Amino acid sequence: MSIAISRIVQGLEPSATLAMSAKAKELKAQGKTVYDLSVGEPDFITPQHIRDAAAAAMKAGHTKYTLASGLPELKKAVADKYKADYGIEYPAAQVVISNGAKHSLHNAFFTTLNPGDEVIIPAPYWVSYAELVKLSGAVPVIVPTEESQGFKMTAAAFERAITAKTRMLLLCNPSNPTGTMYSRSELEMLADIVIAKNLFVVADEIYDTLVYDNRQFASFPTLRSGLQDRTIVVNGASKTYAMTGWRVGWTLSPANVAQKMGGLQSQETSNPCSISQYAALAAITGPQNCVAEMSAAFAQRRDYVAKRIAEIEGLSCAEMQGAFYAFFNVKKHLGRKPGSVSVTNSEQFCLELLTQKQTAAVMGSAFGCEGYVRASFAAGLDVLKEAFDRIAEFVGN
Ligand code: PMP
Ligand code: GLU
Repeated sequence: MSIAISRIVQGLEPSATLAMSAKAKELKAQGKTVYDLSVGEPDFITPQHIRDAAAAAMKAGHTKYTLASGLPELKKAVADKYKADYGIEYPAAQVVISNGAKHSLHNAFFTTLNPGDEVIIPAPYWVSYAELVKLSGAVPVIVPTEESQGFKMTAAAFERAITAKTRMLLLCNPSNPTGTMYSRSELEMLADIVIAKNLFVVADEIYDTLVYDNRQFASFPTLRSGLQDRTIVVNGASKTYAMTGWRVGWTLSPANVAQKMGGLQSQETSNPCSISQYAALAAITGPQNCVAEMSAAFAQRRDYVAKRIAEIEGLSCAEMQGAFYAFFNVKKHLGRKPGSVSVTNSEQFCLELLTQKQTAAVMGSAFGCEGYVRASFAAGLDVLKEAFDRIAEFVGN
């Protein structure tokens, strides 16, 4: 006898980024050297003062449950940070701390969506969006975008996708996987449609501090008055403070949504790890030069990766303006046979690149965009150099 899997989980695709990263880890465990540009995870260790704060929290005995929706001091610190960074005010009660931004997204979808509701998601989109929306019973409506337009959804494309069932726009800015960023005026055009069509927005701003060339990031609820009541902002400690393993994410949302998300979390997971929350508190309230230093290192790597992609025959990439991903076009190399193996799509490209050249990247198809490959440049310059040498050899074969 085998236990039947529920219909909803049977249809669930596992995370392709984590699957590719697991494949790379498996090869490493076999003693092979792998140049891993698969997972979007800063290669930096969490800054020392944050780790010290966690050790101090353990020593002080902060080992018990916190409020299910998060440590009050941390909620206040998150609200204060949005006020300081973007001039927008939230009472601490409108902040919910969760087990990573992925969990925050799950809470947001479960709390606001009903079966059959439509959620507009511009593609390429981050791997977990469509799957998490489907888990909540709602329907992802994917809107393709063009490399030539920086993979940004135009106001016209957005309007065309809206039906009587549309309730939410899910927007990642700066974007994982494309590394491009909407300007304030581009966002305002989308915001006006959101207001006119009575929609609401989940604004995934997890890469807000990783923006290059002195560009100005615009936080979605600040774009127009009244938008704060229509927006659930998602953010977290993973990327900004190199804290992926600690699992701390958060939302800033209207009061009724925050209250219900806290209630949902109280039934599903209770509070996020108390020690991780103290670490995140130290991250937000402590010195911020670590953020600037890591961001400067990412900017240098971004320049290096852009140069390498431009030099490799047949590859192209939209300008990378934020986050730490290159989403490069490999269409000219599909239908060829590197190492005598036929490569006709981005998945085969990535699997063969890993097998033949020990270099891990993620297929565009996992992000809803065939013909592209995502490389994370949250890796050291030495790894990037070797990886791109190998990508050049692979497509040159
Ligand atoms: N949103 C985006 C766009 C991401 O790239 C990630 C990466 N993990 C997340 C959310 C989730 O982050 P976390 O590690 O905090 O769950
Ligand atoms: N966000 C990262 C990525 O896209 C981490 C992986 C994940 O959470 O799925 O690679």
